[in-house]
Amino acid sequence: MDRVLAAARPRFDDDAAIDIARRTFDLVAAAAQDLGSERHQAFRLLDATGGPVAILKVSNAAEDPATLDMEALAVLHAHRVDPSLPLALPWLAPGAPAASLDPADRRVIFPADEGDHHVRAYSVLPGRGRIDPIELSDAALAGWGEMAARLGRALRGFFHPAAQRTMLWDVQHAARTRELLGAIRDAQHRYLVTTVLDRFDTSVVPVWPSLRAQVVHTDLTTDNALADAAGNVTGIVDFGDMSHSALLTDLASLLDSLLNGRTGDELFRCARLVIDGYERITPLEPLELRILPELLAARATVTIAISSWRSDRGLEDGTFAERYNAPVARTIETLLDVGWDEAARRLGAAGRVAPSGALAVRREAVLGPAMEALTYDAPIHVVEAHGVWMTGADGRRYLDAYNNVPCVGHGHPRVIEAIARQSRQVNTNLRYLHETAIELAERLLATMPPEAELDTVLFVNSGSEANDVAWRLATTFTGHRGAVCTALAYHGVTDATAALSPESWGASRRPEHVETWEPPDPVRGRHLDGERFAEALARLATRGFPPAATILDGVLTSDGYIDPGQMLANEWREQTRAAGGLWIADEVQGGHGRTGRHMWSFEHLGLIPDLVTLGKPMGNGHPVGAVVTRREIAARFGDETVFFSTFGGNPVSAAAALAVLDVLEDERVLERVTRVGAELLGAIRDSTRGYASVLDVRGVGLAIGVEVVDGETARALKEGLRERGVLIGTSGPGGTVLKIRPPLAFTEAEIPVLVDALTATLESIAAG
Ligand code: PMP
Repeated sequence: MDRVLAAARPRFDDDAAIDIARRTFDLVAAAAQDLGSERHQAFRLLDATGGPVAILKVSNAAEDPATLDMEALAVLHAHRVDPSLPLALPWLAPGAPAASLDPADRRVIFPADEGDHHVRAYSVLPGRGRIDPIELSDAALAGWGEMAARLGRALRGFFHPAAQRTMLWDVQHAARTRELLGAIRDAQHRYLVTTVLDRFDTSVVPVWPSLRAQVVHTDLTTDNALADAAGNVTGIVDFGDMSHSALLTDLASLLDSLLNGRTGDELFRCARLVIDGYERITPLEPLELRILPELLAARATVTIAISSWRSDRGLEDGTFAERYNAPVARTIETLLDVGWDEAARRLGAAGRVAPSGALAVRREAVLGPAMEALTYDAPIHVVEAHGVWMTGADGRRYLDAYNNVPCVGHGHPRVIEAIARQSRQVNTNLRYLHETAIELAERLLATMPPEAELDTVLFVNSGSEANDVAWRLATTFTGHRGAVCTALAYHGVTDATAALSPESWGASRRPEHVETWEPPDPVRGRHLDGERFAEALARLATRGFPPAATILDGVLTSDGYIDPGQMLANEWREQTRAAGGLWIADEVQGGHGRTGRHMWSFEHLGLIPDLVTLGKPMGNGHPVGAVVTRREIAARFGDETVFFSTFGGNPVSAAAALAVLDVLEDERVLERVTRVGAELLGAIRDSTRGYASVLDVRGVGLAIGVEVVDGETARALKEGLRERGVLIGTSGPGGTVLKIRPPLAFTEAEIPVLVDALTATLESIAAG
């Protein structure tokens, strides 16, 4: 047991306090008021008119001077770091040099029979003490949370050897309060304390060593702070319980105190406000949020146990000592009522994973029948993904060879941090000047081939929107209304882009202004020249629609990953130009390094586009899109309208997109894609040779298609790979092409995983 905690507080009366003030700090006071304290004595000294003179603190004779050194040094440190923190700074003792850094110069010894009392003096801070937390407004609650975080931040760089102590108020030592159980007279309180301590042992003790730790106040409560009429903190006063502990102990003690008198939903609502305030300064880590209910409850049990024990021992007046036991017991009861996991969720921790089957039913109920169905016969309920690996709710890991959006890998730290940091700083729109979108536009333009003279960027939020805006730019510039796209193209969900998406036309008729052409069929040796394209233009012309634009996904994803080669691509391009149309290079699939050799797939095809549209991989999963074009095209549009997209080019999206560009460079992603893509293509070719169901293996970079005999076989392969833990898709005519399009974080190490799963599935299909 801590020596000080086991000691009675000093018992000087008011006259003695006035005398001590004079003898130690040369203070003249007419009156003294005992402020009440657990182990020390604190007095407010008043002059003859009742005006404040100082606060005098007479420490327990059992107090270790080293602890007092720490206290003084910590407060002075925090004051240096954050001078506007309302801290009570100990006065220099009379006669001490003004520049003294010696903590002993911040107190004066007053000898007495029981031992030396260390006496300190402080200025009287404004505000009231011992405020009732139930009076605090929502704004004040958040303000207290923020103050706690600021204090923790101000102490982050501080250490003192005396901080390594066992102070029972620090919930780190909650388990030790079991020794005090016998002193708790109330049976229900005893039950609550035991229940919490049992939980603490199993859920907090094992993870304690991994919590953020530093020297912390540990005892932030309404008793140790002053507040103004609005309830805002005007003073933090008692640093007597400081120790090296988990940073979270401050928040636990603050919540324990502020939630006093609140129960049920109101307790959680108020707790969230305090936590919001805290997280304005210091975001909590997932582990901290997960164990916060236990820490809060532990602090409440410590309150009950220590106060019961001290009053049982006669060390303090029982009513005063135990005044918080009933309300903190109710806090514990509220937590137990909802259960630990649910309490953590209600305080901000990640929610529990819902049962997959029920979740699928709920999805159907709220998203309805127009929404694309879940992929796979047994849908995957994803709970986590990092790099090229995704984890299902059942704990199973899947190699992601399908998702091109997380292009630099699922959960890339650079992108996550860029989003989080920018969100914390400011998120706004392009009506205000801000660096990120401008820099992003400059960086994107610098990646475009100079001969294309692409010099203007319009920011939007998705690939569909980028194509939609590109389409408006093209029709405005050319005055034409016709469009040409590949036979199975997909370019988006908006009215204009759905018209350019024969893949999703379904039963509805082809729009009158759109014509499609068949790209080459390498397996059957068809459509190898520019004939099909010329016919499409001719059909459009017959209907009176000269082309405004041809739109092409440079890796022809939905057509089954066809590489037409530079000659044919340029023939399409020339025919479009001759008919007065512009070229839209849709880089939503093929851009951001997918082809490996080039940043953009139109470069792979040797094309010079008029408009380039970006989406999907651009933000690694964060929704962001862009149109890149020439000034004359943008200017014509500008003559007719004003372009503004609320979220387009917002600082957070732009920061995400900048982070993606950085990672592409820093990790030399394109080089890796070229190398790994070629190796993967070769490995698939080698391993599928001899299977009659495989007709062709083709692709560029990490956009690889495996054409098989029919859609049924492709589907069976996709399902079989999923059963073997590898995710791919299908596309192409009749869904006959396996779509292998992993995040660009894919490396050589994953090749055998994919190839083995593919051959095992082919083998099992061949065996019937
Ligand atoms: N263009 C292409 C080539 C696409 O593949 C897609 C999406 N699959 C889009 C545009 C539309 O992008 P989004 O879904 O982000 O609107």
